[in-house]
Amino acid sequence: MADLIEEVLNTRYGGKPPLDVEGLNIPLQNIVELEKYFDGIAHSVAESLNINEVSVRFSGSTNIGALVHPLDNEKYLIVIPVGIFGRIYAFARKIWSYLDRKKKGITEKSMLIMGTSPADDCDEKTYFVPEFIKCIFDEYERDADFWSDLTKFDSTNDHDDTTEFNVSIIVNQALVVIFAHELAHVTLRHINFIRDVVNGMDLDDRVRSLLRTGMELEADFSSGVQLMAVWRMWAGAESHFMDQDRHADFFRMGFSLYLLLSIFDSKKRSLYAYDQMTYAHPLVRHQAIRTGARHNLTREANSLLPIWTQGSIAGWFLAEQSVNFFTVLELMPTISPQPEGAKVTPLIPVHAMNHAGEISMGYISDKIRKEQQICEATTSLREKYLRGTLLREDCEQIAAITAHSAVSSL
Ligand SMILES: [Zn+2]
Repeated sequence: MADLIEEVLNTRYGGKPPLDVEGLNIPLQNIVELEKYFDGIAHSVAESLNINEVSVRFSGSTNIGALVHPLDNEKYLIVIPVGIFGRIYAFARKIWSYLDRKKKGITEKSMLIMGTSPADDCDEKTYFVPEFIKCIFDEYERDADFWSDLTKFDSTNDHDDTTEFNVSIIVNQALVVIFAHELAHVTLRHINFIRDVVNGMDLDDRVRSLLRTGMELEADFSSGVQLMAVWRMWAGAESHFMDQDRHADFFRMGFSLYLLLSIFDSKKRSLYAYDQMTYAHPLVRHQAIRTGARHNLTREANSLLPIWTQGSIAGWFLAEQSVNFFTVLELMPTISPQPEGAKVTPLIPVHAMNHAGEISMGYISDKIRKEQQICEATTSLREKYLRGTLLREDCEQIAAITAHSAVSSL
């Protein structure tokens, strides 16, 4: 099995990851421990579900997408590119510095400027990933170019002890979410469901797309459950993960989710453009992960629930604001398109990252509710499939969830 895994990694995913890149000040060697940890969890979960084997490896790929690679006979390999680790680390350091707004010269007035999303009025096709943040959001032909851009990007970051302490925890949490999301695709039998139903049945394209979205949300929910389980284990085992003020813990978790979802979709041309045929809006995905985390707490630790509710919401908003400030204040001058004759400053299309207050809250809630229904419908269809009673007509019903409402452009 080890030989097969090595061959798959070498031929398809860029081999083993580098543990040191000259000039780059990111602890790539941390992935050795993480890999061992994830691999151990995956093996015991597989055993408990009578799946032959699930292994986890970091790959040398500098790209963004983690995935499940089916090996043979119920054997799976979860591949996490080292590029994800590097990107999250550098991006977390960058965003973390924006928590100290005074130092960054951010005033209440500049917060107001970002109260609406100018992206809604611009043609998305005219945007591209600015040079400076290509190493966070874009993919590369040559690994060497990625590493040299990332080194440049990270050299502008703070590397003080407080930043490092918080960022290392944030990065670990983000990677738990990625790992648990991929593991859920295996444990929920999504691979089989895609083979036999999504690709195997004569379905409408719209139905296929809804089922894909539903499965992604199921995996997001499951990753939230797992994130909380792992976090509680860490918190119990090592007291420094559990600050005296527990809000800081939850804040970091909210922060890591926000950060992660802002770079998760490899199809983006800019911050927050996303592949709508497969994934729900990042805010909806964030909500699914948070619901999973909440589910875990409700099940076993009711006393933590109120702290989680406050702390994670605070984390969400602070991280959201930080991302906005970062993009607005440092990146805007480096991107184009200034509408002709316009007297406004060009802005990155930051879709719905600011909700424009109460006005758009209903809109967002409606979207979350609808996607939640898609997730639940997918779960019941998948369970029917696992019982061996699923018919093609059953699947068609999922189209009814969105058939009667206008498709939003969010
Ligand atoms: Zn997925």
